[in-house]
Amino acid sequence: MSDYKVHKPDAEWRAQLDDMQYRVTRHAATERAFTGKFWDHFEDGTYQCVCCGAPLFDARTKFDAGCGWPSYFEPIRGGIIERVMDHSHGMVRVEVRCQDCGAHLGHVFDDGPAPTGERFCINSAAIDFKPR
Ligand SMILES: [Zn+2]
Repeated sequence: MSDYKVHKPDAEWRAQLDDMQYRVTRHAATERAFTGKFWDHFEDGTYQCVCCGAPLFDARTKFDAGCGWPSYFEPIRGGIIERVMDHSHGMVRVEVRCQDCGAHLGHVFDDGPAPTGERFCINSAAIDFKPR
């Protein structure tokens, strides 16, 4: 386990977050495709961790992957996203978490567009939007 900068007892996360936010970020649930707030959201601004407010993604790196989840080709700057091997559901995937609080965000795949070739597939419930 990593040592996260932001620690809160489970009861505090539960009180702070709504049910979907809590299940996604603290228990790695996945929201259903095309149901989140941000899969179809293309305003200019930044996306932050819904749990601790850490900046995660810039709207300029968002693209329409057609998958029903917000998709980005890179994190807002190196290091704020933690990558963890995930062997759940019989698959080998790379989970991405907020490096500051350990919130589950989604997964990263290697079929994204240039310049990175990566696709960060993120749950809307794990992020908040701040207009520029
Ligand atoms: Zn966080």
